[in-house]
Amino acid sequence: MKVAVIGTGYVGLVAGACLAETGNDVTCVDIDQRRIRLLQQGEIPIFEPGLHDLVVRNVLGGRLTFTTDTKSAVEQSLVVFLAVPTPTDEDGSADLQHLLDAAKQVAAGINDYKVIVDKSTVPAGTSVKVHELIAGLTLHPFDVVSNPEFLKEGNAVDDFLKPDRVIIGCASDRARTIMTDLYAPFVRTGHPILMMRPESAELTKYAANAILAVKVSFINEIARLCELVGADVDEVRRGMGTDSRIGPAFLFPGMGFGGSCFPKDICALDHTAKSLGLDLHIIHGATKANQRQRLFIPDKILDRFSGRLAGRPIALWGLAFKANTDDVRESPAFTIVDTLLDNKAVVSAYDPQAMPNTRSIYGDRITYAHDQYSALEGAEALVVATEWNVFRHPNFDRMKNLMKTPLVFDGRNLFDPARMREMGFEYYSVGRV
Ligand code: NAD
Repeated sequence: MKVAVIGTGYVGLVAGACLAETGNDVTCVDIDQRRIRLLQQGEIPIFEPGLHDLVVRNVLGGRLTFTTDTKSAVEQSLVVFLAVPTPTDEDGSADLQHLLDAAKQVAAGINDYKVIVDKSTVPAGTSVKVHELIAGLTLHPFDVVSNPEFLKEGNAVDDFLKPDRVIIGCASDRARTIMTDLYAPFVRTGHPILMMRPESAELTKYAANAILAVKVSFINEIARLCELVGADVDEVRRGMGTDSRIGPAFLFPGMGFGGSCFPKDICALDHTAKSLGLDLHIIHGATKANQRQRLFIPDKILDRFSGRLAGRPIALWGLAFKANTDDVRESPAFTIVDTLLDNKAVVSAYDPQAMPNTRSIYGDRITYAHDQYSALEGAEALVVATEWNVFRHPNFDRMKNLMKTPLVFDGRNLFDPARMREMGFEYYSVGRV
């Protein structure tokens, strides 16, 4: 099948490469000329495990190309995915400007029947808006389909190739058949393609992200209570998670959720409900709990130093919003950086992948260490902010030798509190005493 993907970011590039992997001819489009130039030269502008090899293989196989020319990509394709950003607008709603702009550009290339597939996360009713907009610009036949994406950054390729389910919101039999055909290779193991009305598909994505955010906020609050009653949140989470009605996923306490999706998506969901006169109390609670949790480790640091951080060298391990990605959007690590800089501490940070993206935001207000140990030289404390595997089993003796003070604030619960104390570290984590 001939496919165009408009927007070549975390979702668009992964979707395009995976669709090419199953034999389709895919053209990935972006308005960012630098990004397209890099891709045309065989460089991948984002870090995502497995993506580089997948892209290179499909480019060499002649199934994957990159362009800034939306019109010609659409002209050549039957299916056109929209995978552009839908950030938070000033009023908290999802800003649809990128999507509507992309839809207009797509309309200009419609020369025959097309299936326009919205992969961006959008409020219920958006596919109707997109349909109306395009219908005003072309006389050719087309259908608009809602196909929200559930991949996780850090595991995106695997998630796309082996989805738990594919959601298709569609009112047209013709488009349904084409979408079923396109996704058939990805659901051979029996995972379902769920057909539903477009509004349900659109809302499913927000509802799924919202319940995951609620789980995170819930365990973060339980972790706070654990510290007050002398319980250990790791024991509590295992005790809860082995109940098959609850399950173990998304029960890891930490520094509050971040990333490009949860904060903006629960904000947009809340805005939709509010605009219709409905208060979503659980969403409000999860948001409020998250705002407080983002300050959990910063407050511990300030307490420990009685607010006197000026001039103190502090090491930071991790900048990405979670492990296995270079994405720093809404990263909880940045709440730490902001607190440290506001209090005039001297920050030396290391992250295996996210330092270039961090540099574009903080410039040289912090220093970027070339490995995790050099960040520790002379440090009066280490803050662990991202759960990269490479931080899990460090050389503790080496750490102690490099640091001025063996003091660790672990926002990801990577180390065992009793062992840390035995080894002579002063150690703070989340929900464990
Ligand atoms: P991204 O910022 O990584 O990529 C979006 C790309 O779209 C950018 O490269 C941008 O230059 C390009 N773009 C913007 N307007 C364009 C236009 N008119 N024509 C061509 N290209 C254009 O964004 P992302 O993280 O891939 O997210 C895209 C959508 O998918 C969002 O709605 C997001 O909520 C949703 N989503 C994201 C994830 C995730 O983990 N990142 C997961 C599921 C769903």
